[in-house]
Amino acid sequence: MRHMRRTAAGLLAAALLVCLAGCGNESAGPGETAPAQQTEAAEFQKNMCQSQYFYIQDACEAEGGIYFNYDGYLYYLDKTNQKATILCGKPDCEHKGSRCNAWINSRGMWVRDDQVYCITFAGEDKLVTAMDRDGTNRRTVQQLQYSMNGAQSSGDDAVCYQGVVYYPYNDVLYAVPLGDDMEKATAIWGEESAGTTGGSFFFDGNELHFRLWPDGDSLYFMINAVQEDGTCKDTLMAYSLTDETVQQVWQTPDEAAVGPWYTTGVSVQAWYVQDGTITYYLAGNGLWRSKLPDGEPERLVDTSAIPHGSVLFSEDTTLLLNDALSARVEREGGDSLTLYDTSGNLQKEISLTSLLQEHPGITGFALLFLSDGDLYFIAHAGTWGDIEDGVQYQDRADVLCRIDLDTGDCTEIHTFTG
Ligand SMILES: [Zn+2]
Repeated sequence: MRHMRRTAAGLLAAALLVCLAGCGNESAGPGETAPAQQTEAAEFQKNMCQSQYFYIQDACEAEGGIYFNYDGYLYYLDKTNQKATILCGKPDCEHKGSRCNAWINSRGMWVRDDQVYCITFAGEDKLVTAMDRDGTNRRTVQQLQYSMNGAQSSGDDAVCYQGVVYYPYNDVLYAVPLGDDMEKATAIWGEESAGTTGGSFFFDGNELHFRLWPDGDSLYFMINAVQEDGTCKDTLMAYSLTDETVQQVWQTPDEAAVGPWYTTGVSVQAWYVQDGTITYYLAGNGLWRSKLPDGEPERLVDTSAIPHGSVLFSEDTTLLLNDALSARVEREGGDSLTLYDTSGNLQKEISLTSLLQEHPGITGFALLFLSDGDLYFIAHAGTWGDIEDGVQYQDRADVLCRIDLDTGDCTEIHTFTG
């Protein structure tokens, strides 16, 4: 098995080299640079940035395939042959820990000028790391923050948009041109304190968490803003790239306006901003949208019959899975995907029954991303061991699957075990 993986990685590296030298009509030939538009498109990608699955939070699609981080390791999914390969290439590597070439442990990933960029961590320093598209030639191109007296680093994602890296640190949102020194970073929102106090390791429920979302001339960011009564509420801010101002444009609705849901009044399960409209999912309630700034909530779909679900959005599709996310122990979810257009009109339903019949051990599904009319998702499909002392354990086996949303055909791509 190990030998097969190594061979596959070698073949992939060779294939990439051939590709870089110029293959097909679409890729750039030797000495040419890729069109700027393609380069920009491989920075922040809405379709790839909605995974709610702990083990795959980073993904970026570039010409020919998709880079993703599974459990800290960099993989490449070749879309021409639908094979996922760990980008290690080190002989006899067991791909365990930081000695593996594929270990990135990143939060944030993009592709630009034929380089793969990841946000990585060295101790508590946060770095931008670049590498060639086959995962080699890895180097630090930029430091985003450093620890001072044990001050906590922010684990929130950074994004790259139009050549600028946006990242949160100590409740402040910064912007710095890709590759520049962090001394050149400018604070675009938040109060900069005079140095870090350091050493605060207790959990602060009011600590800000950022989720960044560039769209058009705006950088949106969702934060858990503290309300007057001390509770938190997910709040969407918008930083204008043209006039450099920040304004609050949306807040999680109150129960009085939309009715109860899984996390009533606090947060939404999934959201997506496009062209000045936010579309969002309230589990056990519905799909909603509001025009920004501060438009009234408009219900697109009533999903109150489904207590738990997960949702992925794209430019023209909203996809609802009637299954609890990562239902590990006992399966209680449904078995279908429902597609709507962006106005909530039902398009079709896709059954997952055949997959469930093939893998009776499936305990749940997790949606990952949408690409070219295909859905990529994980099926948790462990095998159950014998009952020992009244306890039965399951070996983790995450099956990466793809569904063609046109035909409903499902393909199993790769199985991760651990
Ligand atoms: Zn390895």
